[in-house]
Amino acid sequence: MNILQVSAEYHPLLKTGGLADVTGALPAALNANGCDVRVLLPGFPAILAGLQEPTELLRFHTHGGAELRLLRGTLLGTTTVQAYVLDAPGLLDRPGNPYEDAHKQPYADNHRRFAALAWGAVQIAQGGDTSWKPQLVHGHDWHAGLVPACLLHAGGGQPLLPSVFTVHNLAYQGLFDVARFPDLGLPWSFYQVEGLEFWGQISFLKAGLHYANRITTVSPTYAREIQTPELGCGLDGLLRRRQSDLSGILNGVDGTIWNPTTDPLLPHRFGSNKLLGKARCKAALQIETGLHTHADAPLFTVVSRLTEQKGLPLVLEAVDGLVERGAQLLVLGNGDAHLEAAFLAKAQQHAGRVAVRIGFDEAFSHRVFGGSDVTLVPSRFEPCGLTQLYALAYGSVPLVRRVGGLADSVTDTQPDTLASDTATGIVFNHMDVGEFTHALQRAMALYRHPSQWDRVQRAGMRQHFSWDEAAQQYAALYRSLIPA
Ligand code: ADP
Repeated sequence: MNILQVSAEYHPLLKTGGLADVTGALPAALNANGCDVRVLLPGFPAILAGLQEPTELLRFHTHGGAELRLLRGTLLGTTTVQAYVLDAPGLLDRPGNPYEDAHKQPYADNHRRFAALAWGAVQIAQGGDTSWKPQLVHGHDWHAGLVPACLLHAGGGQPLLPSVFTVHNLAYQGLFDVARFPDLGLPWSFYQVEGLEFWGQISFLKAGLHYANRITTVSPTYAREIQTPELGCGLDGLLRRRQSDLSGILNGVDGTIWNPTTDPLLPHRFGSNKLLGKARCKAALQIETGLHTHADAPLFTVVSRLTEQKGLPLVLEAVDGLVERGAQLLVLGNGDAHLEAAFLAKAQQHAGRVAVRIGFDEAFSHRVFGGSDVTLVPSRFEPCGLTQLYALAYGSVPLVRRVGGLADSVTDTQPDTLASDTATGIVFNHMDVGEFTHALQRAMALYRHPSQWDRVQRAGMRQHFSWDEAAQQYAALYRSLIPA
């Protein structure tokens, strides 16, 4: 099956969150399951820099008049993947974050930039590469939301190809003023409630949800949650209507990148039967971040975008109590200015016990998971969450809220789950500082009980969230849509 994957991010070239980990890992996992996956990416500077041996396939124009070149080449990652990249310097050649300017404001022409991506997919669907033709297009998140609509329009009312649309986060919707509609290259008939209109605006996400043949999201629980008014972001009605086309496929862990027995980014390597290396990683991390080098102080860590979604005000509220009880906190993250400032203030207040690094640092994140005792993920909502999966692999016990993919991947420590060796973390239910503090106390108590701690830690490290399994589910979905 020839599959064209369309996304804005791709690990290891460009990553702002979990989306890149998924789109970077899926092609190889799918190729091992009988697919021939190629990727289409916007020519952001980091993507163009990583494209090997580019050749120009064709040129076309957007509705705004910009000229785009469709390049073909290969991307080097853990495996080599064939790639198409849209080269449009005026639209895409901007330094830093792919979506926002230096003041964290979305680019005013984002609708044009990502409409161009969809029309690039149409060019390939129409035979733009004479040596390879996709049989299905799989788009990810709102950046690729227009793809199914453009395939439908280009096919004159019958989609050129079947499509799958995966939602990694329903809260990011790609909303634009209706005045921008003529720039998209679609007729006005698409601007309706049964289309991409959303409360008087254009929604790229809704376009994907409405026009794709199948919708997936990145965990079974999130697939159910987004059909409720509470977590449906105003799209729950549409998602309920499309219930039979919607499914959840849990993300995996790329073991070639996230494996503590082989990880070259760790100062010491370790496995579930050889945890000495983990103790050394913790000591090295404490030294690196200016935390007191107390081996027996439980080290709680956060690796996260600092946004409302991630429930971090709970951590801010609880940190004083945590420190009073002898624990340490290390935060690696960036995002909302007020959260960055609040965490930095806590680091100042509790020097040696709280450390904060603001920024996005992939290599450092490996060292954090390697040295961490407990990974905190108290999210308000969490489509899948990858940090708790990496934490499990690295012997850091995840403390998570029972929501979305967190609920699907962490088993709470209770007498029965401890006895059956299935406990892998600490789980709490409500966004409530009392409940969160209680969960922290349970984690501290577990830590002070080495034999139990050991069981939970090792049970977590034995978990295997494989991309292979996820790829089999995606492949089955593709098969059901591609005519024999
Ligand atoms: P989301 O996609 O909502 O940001 P996920 O948990 O699904 O959350 O994925 C986040 C990914 O980004 C993980 O790979 C995590 O390790 C990484 N990450 C988040 N913040 C940082 C950071 N500040 N530095 C390095 N990696 C980070």
